[in-house]
Formats: sequence, structure tokens, C-alpha cells
Amino acid sequence: MSNGNDLMDKLVSLCKRRGYVFQSSEIYGGTGSVWDYGPLGVELKNNVKRAWWRTMVHERDDIEGLDAAILMHPRVWEASGHVEGFTDPLVECRNCHRRFRADNPDIQGDQCPVCGSKDGFTEPRNFNLMFRTFMGPVEDDASVVYLRPETAQGIYVNFQNVLTTSRQRIPFGIAQIGKAFRNEITPGNFIFRTREFEQMEMQFFVEPGTDEEWFETWRERRLAWVRSLGIRADKLRWHEHAPDELAHYAKRAFDIEYEFPFGWQEVEGVHNRTDFDLTRHQQYSGKRLEYIDPNDRDKRYIPYIIETSAGADRMTLVVLADAYREEVVEGEQRVVLGLHPALAPIKAAIFPLVKKDGLPEIATKIHDAFRAAGIPSFYDDSGSIGKRYRRQDEAGTPFCITVDGQTSEDGTATVRDRDTLAQERVSSDRLTEYVRERVGR
Ligand code: ATP
Repeated sequence: MSNGNDLMDKLVSLCKRRGYVFQSSEIYGGTGSVWDYGPLGVELKNNVKRAWWRTMVHERDDIEGLDAAILMHPRVWEASGHVEGFTDPLVECRNCHRRFRADNPDIQGDQCPVCGSKDGFTEPRNFNLMFRTFMGPVEDDASVVYLRPETAQGIYVNFQNVLTTSRQRIPFGIAQIGKAFRNEITPGNFIFRTREFEQMEMQFFVEPGTDEEWFETWRERRLAWVRSLGIRADKLRWHEHAPDELAHYAKRAFDIEYEFPFGWQEVEGVHNRTDFDLTRHQQYSGKRLEYIDPNDRDKRYIPYIIETSAGADRMTLVVLADAYREEVVEGEQRVVLGLHPALAPIKAAIFPLVKKDGLPEIATKIHDAFRAAGIPSFYDDSGSIGKRYRRQDEAGTPFCITVDGQTSEDGTATVRDRDTLAQERVSSDRLTEYVRERVGR
């Protein structure tokens, strides 16, 4: 039985081997806890984001999309509370000067978990997690800007713009996918906690008093979405924030947690943020952010916000960790990424059994048909069929199509299912349709 660390090591090495995720700036020795998505990784993460956008925006009438800039007016972060409060307590080892979050479970008494020295640590001091930079050529306080630590604020400051241009009425939501940056003290666990990451956030604006009901509705919908990615139900659970865990803006908060190889951890938060954010932005900007009910102009209020906030990278890690399995088939060990076919980067791999007798030409034609249909496919004629299957199993490709002698006689090719290993002969002119039907979406 593998333990959690082993499993993570195997996943990280598979991700590198198959072109899912590489360490950033690897040829220079790597940058700590920053990762790049390779050819298959970018497809997988895009598929996760696309699935989210489809459910949250395209399949609904009451949610609009937005793509706000990363750099915002610095006052935004004063209004949001991030300048003052987005901090973690930090301690420093007196010997090696490495810094840790004060609540790091690896710290035992005065002993440094890295250098082992018992010289102890500095007093905790608050460390702001926002990255600061400068706008324009002069590095003074007036030109300080922040890399946004969450995408949500870009939505709040555009609330009136979206409301008037989309002609939505409350209740309605605004959804956004984009990069966020946090100078985390202890990043780690591969793409779980990084300093640069992507969020998929939706802010739903509701009338005060209806917020609790909407909170429950969004909780249900969000868990159903995670399940729709094929994630096992017994690996998911809710964690409710106790009063001492609640963020300053939240009335109630629940996290969807996944059981990673390194334990249960948050992947998405559903928060009742009350009218905190819009009230603060109204106060700091001096602009009215009230909603006026079009049916009753005397009815004005600052909407309450139900937020659903997920990490695209963290969700991609959930998808990868949940899909990874090792099994023995006909006496041979294989590693499989059992990705949901809709998320798999490559939908079908096409193999000529041998590199002669006209088989490569037929297989190339099939590959061309997949390309023309816009279905990601991969052509491979190197190595034994067994080896080619194993490479695709690791890449998570749901279907492998083999062109053999019989194909030149009756026009059928063998389709092998990644999970059941069942093989079926399908007429070559029906292959794209066959795969599309099974991949769905
Ligand atoms: P944590 O307690 O893990 O630091 P958080 O409670 O600060 O997370 P939120 O601010 O609620 O997280 O962010 C919403 C989502 O954004 C998280 O559920 C997670 O999926 C993602 N996220 C937050 N921080 C990071 C990070 N450093 N790296 C990757 N994803 C992150």
C-alpha cells in the first residue's frame, strides 16, 4: 500500500513524464512552488475551467461573465480589508532564518523543522500576503499597486456596470475566472497551494433576508458540479467554518473538502458575505452601490452576496488525484488516469498496428477526420501496441483506436476502452461520432 507522500510523488512524476505539469524555470533550478502546465496540463485545466463556465454562465440566464484586470486601484484593497487584515502570523528560525507560519504543525517547541536548531524563533509578526509592485516609473507610495489576491473584488467594483448593461434583476450573479496572487508563507503540496494561481469565482447578489436560502441552494449546486467531474462522493465532504474561523466579512461559510493523499483539504468555499463588500466600496468610493427594485422604486437596498470560490489549479489537482490508479491487468501492472472523458486532454489515440501494408495511411486518414471534427486526438506508430496503450492509459486517453489488417478488408478499426478494456470493432467512417457520443459535452 502506498502512503500519501508516495502517492503524491508518483502523481508529480507522472505529471512531468506525460507533460501535465512542469516546475517553473526548471532549467535554472526551479522557482519555489510555481508550476507550469505542459501540453496535456493546459488542456486538462482548460477543460475544468470550461466545464465551470458552462455550468455557471452558459447554462444559466441569471449569471453574467466578467474578465476584470489583475491590477486595480489601491483603494480597492483598503475597502476590502486586505491591506489591513490579509495577514498570517510569521516566525523566523533564529539559526537558519527560514520563515514559517506560526501555526505550522511541523514546529515542535523551539526546534526548527528544517535545520533542526533549538535556538528558537522570533516573536510572531503579521505578514501581508499581497504582492506589491509599482505602477509607472517612480517607486513611491503613490504608485504602489497590488497583484490581486482574489478575483472577487473585480466583480464588486463592476456591480453597477454589469447590472445596467446586462439589464439583470436581483437575484443574479457575476462569474469570473482569473489569476490571483498570494505571497503564501508555506506553499506546497504541488499545485495545491501556490503563490500564483487561478480562481473560478461567482458572486450572487440577493435581497437581504433571502440570503440564507440562496446560500443553501448554491451549496447544493456547487457540490453537484464537483461530482459531475466524476469525483468520488466518499472523497468529498463539507466543513463548516466555526465562529472563530469565519472571515471578517462572512456570516456563514462552508468549504467543500477533498481527501487528498496528504489529507482532507479545502477545494472550494461557499460564503455568505452579507452586504459587507458593497457597503465598504460605497463608503470608500463615494459611489452609490444600492439596488433599486424596478417594480417598487421605494425599495432600495445594498444586496447581500453569496460567493462560490474555487481554485482552478486546486480543482485540477482534485481531478488528477481522484483519477490516478495503479492496477494489475493480465499479470501486468498499469498506471491509469481514469479522467472523466469530457475532461481528458486527448479523447482518442490512433495506432496503425504495423508501419506497413497501407495501415499508416488509413490511420492518418482517421486522425485527419478527428482533427477536422475538432476532437483532440493523437497519432502514434512507435513501439509495441502494449506500450502505446500504456502511454495513453497514463495520459488518461479514454479511447485507443487500432488499425489492423481487417481494416483494409472491411473498413472497421478496433476501439479499446481505457477503463473496461473492452474492444469493439467500429466502422472507420463512424469513429468520430462514436467517440463524440461517449465523450459527451
Ligand atoms: P486556504 O485556507 O487553503 O489558504 P482560503 O480559505 O484562504 O484557502 P479562499 O480565500 O476562500 O481560500 O480562496 C478560495 C479558493 O481559492 C480556495 O478554496 C482554493 O481552491 C483557492 N486557493 C486559495 N489560495 C490558494 C493558493 N495559494 N493556491 C492555490 N489555490 C488557492
